[in-house]
Amino acid sequence: MDTTLLEKICKQIDTYQNETIRLQKELTAIPAISPENDGEGEQKKSAFIQSYLEKELKCDEVTLYKAPDDRAPSGYRPNLVAKVLGKDQSRTIWIMSHVDVVPPGNLSKWHSDPWTIRIENGKIYGRGTEDNQQGIVSSLLTIKAFREEGVQPEHNIGLVLVADEETGSKYGIQYLLENHSSIFKNEDFIIIPDAGIEDGTMIEVAEKSIVWFKFRVLGKQTHGSTPDKGINALTAGANLIVKLSNLYSIFNAADPVFDPPTSTFEPTKKDPNVPNINTIPGEDIFYLDCRLLPTYDVDLLWRDVKRICKDVENEHKVTIEITSEQEVRAAPPTPSDAPVVKSLEKAITDIRGVQPQPMGIGGGTVAAYFRNAGFNVVVWATQDETLHEPNEYVKIDNIIKDSKVFAHLGLQIE
Ligand SMILES: [Zn+2]
Repeated sequence: MDTTLLEKICKQIDTYQNETIRLQKELTAIPAISPENDGEGEQKKSAFIQSYLEKELKCDEVTLYKAPDDRAPSGYRPNLVAKVLGKDQSRTIWIMSHVDVVPPGNLSKWHSDPWTIRIENGKIYGRGTEDNQQGIVSSLLTIKAFREEGVQPEHNIGLVLVADEETGSKYGIQYLLENHSSIFKNEDFIIIPDAGIEDGTMIEVAEKSIVWFKFRVLGKQTHGSTPDKGINALTAGANLIVKLSNLYSIFNAADPVFDPPTSTFEPTKKDPNVPNINTIPGEDIFYLDCRLLPTYDVDLLWRDVKRICKDVENEHKVTIEITSEQEVRAAPPTPSDAPVVKSLEKAITDIRGVQPQPMGIGGGTVAAYFRNAGFNVVVWATQDETLHEPNEYVKIDNIIKDSKVFAHLGLQIE
């Protein structure tokens, strides 16, 4: 890699403090809330970004893909795809951010108006500043630096600015992958700067499957003094909780990419049963939060959970209803040695002087849509993780440094 070029680009990015604030100010002032949350969608905010991509950055390609949605006043949900062409156009380094934000929540918990940025100690406060305007702004600034320095990246740099990430992605990345999948190629790099930790060392490459079981144990209610006349559902439920802990030894594989490295099966919520002490409960309801390593099939988990319930039914003469409150099957992981992971590691180490780690998490990001479609993708950013909270903020320094990491990727030759 040409390190003098990198230095030149990084120096330029360092001058973008005011541009960072200006962009964050404009973007925060346009709430892009989905119709599910009583908003009008992302059209206005997306139009602002589109004009920036076209007029300010003079991107080589800018395309607006409209996902039809009658609930939005515009009639569609906007998905922008922009590209700056590189010397070698066989690969595109994609940076995907989402334009929508979540509602501000309880306004009394905010120290300032969520739609007007406030700057304090190098932090920009406002709804959306971190989630996901950090990704939007840092990637826009990367392209700005290449343009202003007159440097052509080694490979194409592409931005994807999607709608509907916060409410299911049906009108966002799912729409693009289902209707315009030829945008992405297998050899492309896909980076989603939408989660991360404070020092920027976490590269998310894998997720566990999630199953939230609900168990309804049915016995027979009776007076506390005459247990022989009833069937105690709580005793049976308690026994079931103990027996379910055997799942740990059944699904005992470990994968060091994850923290914790094994699958987990934890009883969590418990519904109230009887209000008074001298009644033996005839019904007991509790929940189990399972996070299963992607190596395991969720069907196997169901099979063993049903078997354990059968044992308890026979032993206690109860009936047990099993349902799932949530079930998300993990996508195939991105290998820790995939080229996108290796290149990103190199960039983070050079720019931040830290050693990043490919890691797995408990589940639930948009990366799964790409992974299920066969693409290698990483989720990475440097964040304090204030997303969805009142007084959400982003550090200006994190935007600047993340932008340099993207520039580094754009200059890597391979
Ligand atoms: Zn987000």
